[in-house]
Amino acid sequence: MRILIGEVKNHIDKEVEISGWTQNIRTMSTVLFIELRDVSGTVQGVLLKKGNEELFETLKALPRESVLSMTGQAVKSQAKIGYEVQIKHLDILNRAETPLPLGVVDKIESDIETRLENRFLDLRRPEKLSIFKIQSTISNSIRNFFVNSGFIEIHSPKIVAAATEGGTELFPVKYFEKNAYLSQSPQLYKEMMMSAGFDKVFEVAPAFRAEEHNTPRHINEFTSIDMEMSFVSDEGVMDVLENVVKTAYKAVSDTNERELEILGVPKPNLDYRFRRITYSEYVQMANQKGIALNDGEDLSTQVLKTVGGGIKEFYFITRWPRELKPFYVQPYDEKYSRGFDLQFGELEITSGAQRVHSPEVLINNLKSKGLNPDSFSFYVNTFKYGMPPHAGWAIGLERLTMVLLDIANIRETTLFPRDRTRVTP
Ligand code: ATP
Repeated sequence: MRILIGEVKNHIDKEVEISGWTQNIRTMSTVLFIELRDVSGTVQGVLLKKGNEELFETLKALPRESVLSMTGQAVKSQAKIGYEVQIKHLDILNRAETPLPLGVVDKIESDIETRLENRFLDLRRPEKLSIFKIQSTISNSIRNFFVNSGFIEIHSPKIVAAATEGGTELFPVKYFEKNAYLSQSPQLYKEMMMSAGFDKVFEVAPAFRAEEHNTPRHINEFTSIDMEMSFVSDEGVMDVLENVVKTAYKAVSDTNERELEILGVPKPNLDYRFRRITYSEYVQMANQKGIALNDGEDLSTQVLKTVGGGIKEFYFITRWPRELKPFYVQPYDEKYSRGFDLQFGELEITSGAQRVHSPEVLINNLKSKGLNPDSFSFYVNTFKYGMPPHAGWAIGLERLTMVLLDIANIRETTLFPRDRTRVTP
């Protein structure tokens, strides 16, 4: 029975069957070494020429990255990892063409466009694989957190008739004789679930944004982890967010030691404080740094860089001006709202809020943002017949992975990124 290469160490002096990709083949006059790689690691297979002349010659000419399967004796040896497999039987399952469009074991990495163009080969590199093993831990631990805390997982529609925020960042879809859009956020639906009495919901799903700009932190399709809870304030869901991030960090720390080592990244810090800074305090911090910024102005990338760039930990920016937040955010007072963002350094990774629950406030807010409440009637109606107070947030899975692994470009934390110019592979 096939075992993973990473398990060979537990089978020393026994026969093992392993399969994978040939990273490298070295020959001496009488012996041949095959470096075989699978999802769990690499090991060296050894074949003596004597008695295996034909196979020896075939393997000598076998291109890198061909797929094969071997059985043999696992033995302690001089090999770097301390053991190897003495090949008894070997099957070539698929021969790779040459030359490879992208080297897998080359020390020097190709440019990102070439790598993305040949992403399946790029992902064979243990560093790239490690990013996505860690991302899997992050999303699973968060999903488990929600399930264990009594949240209901929902799947809201991704083809929608109205924009969440009436923005222009929408991809139109032809929906038979109607016009529809790809969903930019499950916002309206998760709120409707509060009126439906679901109490606590979460969703992990793609969100589509037709943003034209090409930046290292935006992609046009990302994975949004959304939650919404009833009978809770903005402060309450910030507490939950803190616990969610800590849970993900702990899970990675506990399960991905090998991947962190491959990536050369220290174990995630489990002692972050999650300071809560109001928007107005943030403006003062900017002013103290000599930036001319008025209370009420949006925080530009440049401001976030200058003020937040040095804060190498998580912090919330709370009580944003109502003007700068969408219509569904609950007012705090005349000027400020119960909307918040979670930042790490200069990067925003979550935005959330206590939401409006009064239908009158909602309709006023829609109008004051220049939106027509009638085009949101499916949503507004759910407020008229008993909408509880509620709050929630959305965190970008790719951005959280960037922060945890200190990766600068979101394309590296996305399997097959969709950006301004890329829709394949
Ligand atoms: P930004 O200001 O960075 O463009 P946003 O304010 O549009 O983000 P929200 O609509 O509040 O973001 O989305 C919530 C979260 O979803 C963000 O904090 C981020 O983690 C993630 N997110 C939003 N847009 C993108 C995107 N284009 N690419 C990747 N992640 C995104």
